[in-house]
Amino acid sequence: MSQNQLKEELADLIRNYNSRGWSPATSTNYSFIDENNQIWVSRSGVDKANFQSTDFIKVNISGQAIDEFAGIKPSAETLIHCYLYTLFPEVKVILHSHGIHPVLLSAREMSDVVFEGYEIQKGFSGQLTHDRQIKIPIFDNSQDMSFFEKELIYRKALLENHCFIIRKHGTYAWGSSLFEAKRHLETLDYLCEVKLKTLK
Ligand SMILES: [Zn+2]
Repeated sequence: MSQNQLKEELADLIRNYNSRGWSPATSTNYSFIDENNQIWVSRSGVDKANFQSTDFIKVNISGQAIDEFAGIKPSAETLIHCYLYTLFPEVKVILHSHGIHPVLLSAREMSDVVFEGYEIQKGFSGQLTHDRQIKIPIFDNSQDMSFFEKELIYRKALLENHCFIIRKHGTYAWGSSLFEAKRHLETLDYLCEVKLKTLK
């Protein structure tokens, strides 16, 4: 998919997720890598209900805005996107949600959340059956982005389902295409909703 197509489709998805309540009060961020290996990230402070394809800015792998966007301050969380692209070179799209289900669940669980037996587990690439126990890591929240860099490196093996949760904050999910990243994020949200509803 070309850069322009991706901008249009991702902007459309961002507005769609906003209508689900996944990005209140200008929160959350989204990024992709285009055909020239350039990282684009959603501009911070934009109301996601009105997010447009022109609201992406170019950043380098250190999370600084470049070229015609130089001087614009990207969201601090842009660095998490950069760490993930470094850690997983095959990744092309990263989605960050503040959807309420993982947030509520993360307030009750410790270092990970376990799911077992749900058909939708197959929504995570690499999972071929419902009949397996899977774990999604939960990281504590922090305003110090280097904390996440260390956690991601240290717990890389636990990121096999292409997503993680930040406690009382939100989720990150990624993929080699927009379609795949979307499937991973929605699979995680669904599983968290089911788990919350079945907790006593
Ligand atoms: Zn966030």
